Amino acid sequence: MVDRKGRFGIHGGQYIPETLMNAVIELEEAYERYKKDPEFNRELTALLNGYAGRPSLLYYAKNMTEDLDGAKIYLKREDLNHTGAHKINNVLGQVLLAKKMGKTRVIAETGAGQHGVATATAATLMGMECEIFMGKEDTERQALNVYKMRLLGAKVHAVTSGTATLKDAVSETMREWTNRIADTHYVLGSVMGPHPFPTIVRDFQAVISREIKEQMLEKEGRLPDAVIACVGGGSNAIGAFYHFIEDPSVQLIGCEAAGRGVDTFETAATIATGKLGIFHGMKSYFCQDEFGQIAPVYSISAGLDYPGIGPEHAELHDTGRAQYVPVTDEEAVSAFEYLSRMEGIIPAIESAHAVAHAIKIAPSFRKDQCIVVNISGRGDKDCAAIARYRGEDISE
Ligand SMILES: *Cc1c(COP(=O)(O)O)cnc(C)c1O
Repeated sequence: MVDRKGRFGIHGGQYIPETLMNAVIELEEAYERYKKDPEFNRELTALLNGYAGRPSLLYYAKNMTEDLDGAKIYLKREDLNHTGAHKINNVLGQVLLAKKMGKTRVIAETGAGQHGVATATAATLMGMECEIFMGKEDTERQALNVYKMRLLGAKVHAVTSGTATLKDAVSETMREWTNRIADTHYVLGSVMGPHPFPTIVRDFQAVISREIKEQMLEKEGRLPDAVIACVGGGSNAIGAFYHFIEDPSVQLIGCEAAGRGVDTFETAATIATGKLGIFHGMKSYFCQDEFGQIAPVYSISAGLDYPGIGPEHAELHDTGRAQYVPVTDEEAVSAFEYLSRMEGIIPAIESAHAVAHAIKIAPSFRKDQCIVVNISGRGDKDCAAIARYRGEDISE
C-alpha cells in the first residue's frame, strides 16, 4: 500500500531537512536490499526465536470469555517477549540492519524508557555503541529504566528542550542523527517519522499478525472476527493488523488513549481530537492547538502519550478499513485490574486500553465468533502508578 516515497494515501512522505536526505536514502536502499536477502532473514528469525522467545503464545482466555458471555477471546502474548513487550521485534530488526550497513553506533528516542531499554539490549547483544535520548521529565519519572539502560551499557541523554518529554526526545534524536550520519543509525521506535521508517517498523512488527493468522487457523480453523490493539505511534497495532488488512471479514480496531476524556485537554486521542498536519518528518494526524502547534498530550500510560499517529493508521482511518476508538484512563485501569484477576495476567497499562475495548464489545458478538486482543507488554512497570491512581502508596 506504499506508493512512491512512502505515501499511505495522502499521509507519510519525507518532510525532512536536506541534511538528513542522504541518511534516509541510504537507509531506504539498504532496507530494500536486505529485506529480500535470505541470510538477513535467517539471522533475524534466529534472533526473534532464539533470543526474544518467539513465536509468542496465542492464549485462549477462557475465564474472560465465560465472564463476558459473547465472543471467544484470545490474547496475543507479546508481553512474554524478552524485555517484556513487542518493541524487541522492531529493535532486533533495525539493529541487525544497521550492523549490515556497517554502522557501529545506534541512537534512539524513548518516552517511558521501554524502547530505550529494548534498543540498549539489542545494541549490547550485537556489539554496537548505544546512546538514548529521553526527555528530562521522563528520566525523573522513569528512573528504573534509566538505570537499566546504563546497566546495559548505553549512554542516556536527558533532553531539556520543549516540554522535556517524548516528542522533544524524537526531535533531539533526529538532530543528533544529522550531526553524525556516517557511523550511526537511528532506531526509531514506532511506525512514524519520515519514509522509510513507518514501512520498516511495520514490516518488523508484522510478525505478530503472521503468527496470529497461523495460530488462529490451527486453533479455530478460521480467521478472527476482530483484532484489537492499543495505539500510541501505532507499531504494535499495525503489527497485529497487517496480515489481515486484505481480509475484509476481520474488523481492525485501534484503541487510543483518551486520558481524562476526549472532551478535555488532558487526552492523547489523536484520531478523535487531532487534525491533519506535518511533524517529525511525516504528514498524518496530530493533536494541535488552535494555531497548529503540537498540543501537550496526557495519558496515564506513558507509552501512549504521543501527539500523533503513524501515517498508515491515518490512511486506514481515512478509508474506514480500521476503526479507532478512545479509551479513558479509568477504563484502562479497570481493565488492568480485570485481566489480572480474571486470567492471572498483568498487562501493560497501554495494552489494558485494548482489553477495555474488548470487554465493551465482546458481549455483542456471537459465541462462535473470535476476538484477538494484542497484549503489547507486561504490567510490572505500571503497578506502582496504578496503585497510586487507586490511592495506595507502594514504594518501588
Ligand atoms: C511503547 C509501547 C506501546 C505504544 O507504542 P506503539 O508503537 O503504539 O505500539 C504500547 N504498548 C507497550 C507495552 C509499549 O511499550
